[in-house]
Order: sequence, then structure tokens, then C-alpha cells
Amino acid sequence: MTAEQGTRGGYGCERCWPHDAAAAWEARQGLAQVAELVQESHYRVAIHSCPHCRQNFLSVFTELVDWALGQDPMYWTVVPVEADESAALTDLKGEPREADLEAMASDRRSLLRDFPEGASKPTVGWGVGLRIGPHD
Ligand SMILES: [Zn+2]
Repeated sequence: MTAEQGTRGGYGCERCWPHDAAAAWEARQGLAQVAELVQESHYRVAIHSCPHCRQNFLSVFTELVDWALGQDPMYWTVVPVEADESAALTDLKGEPREADLEAMASDRRSLLRDFPEGASKPTVGWGVGLRIGPHD
């Protein structure tokens, strides 16, 4: 394994899963959506694919509505998934269970974008595993 594969965990390519978290978030905008598993206004789960290396990524967005302050905390997580994992998700008849999603990539490096309540701008960084935040 090269050092480069090590930091990416063997997933993705330089374009879709770069070392820098901010660059990885930028790269996410260039991924193609291949499946939408949950589409609610405050909870969205989708699978995206890199047009260059075909790596699939599972992305989860959650938002908690704060009726008092009006600025809702929002959280995004992006984690690479294997082809068979994404196939299993797209084959589901209903929505995936949150616990199953969280168990899927529990030890895999993930990209986290947080926009908590009271923050003036979002932060982007690396984490581990898929996190499904509280949502309405
Ligand atoms: Zn790629």
C-alpha cells in the first residue's frame, strides 16, 4: 500500500477523495447522484459516484429545525462505500434503517461538514464512520 492509498483508506481517487477535507467537500459537488434513498426536507440520504474512478459515496444530511432562533443546525456526512454495499442499499424496498447505515462504515474515514447553531460558517473535517445527526 502506498502512502497515498493509506490516507484515503484505499477509496476513491485524487479528484473525489483528496487529502484535504475542504477540497474533498468541493469535490463532492462534482459527484453524480446515482440513487436517492431518503428524501425528506430535514433528512436526506443519497448515493453519489465519482465520474472518474466510479467510487460510490453515501451521503447523509440532517437538519434540526430550531423554531426559536431560526438558524437550524445542519450536518453532512460523506463516506465511501463498496459497490456491493451501495447495491444492497438501492435494492431496498423501503428506507434504510439509520442503525444499518451507521453500522455499514463504522471504521471508515468520513468527511464531516457541520453547521451548528450559532456558528457563522460551516466547518469541514475528517471523522470516522457515518453519523446520522438528530433531525426533524
Ligand atoms: Zn474518484
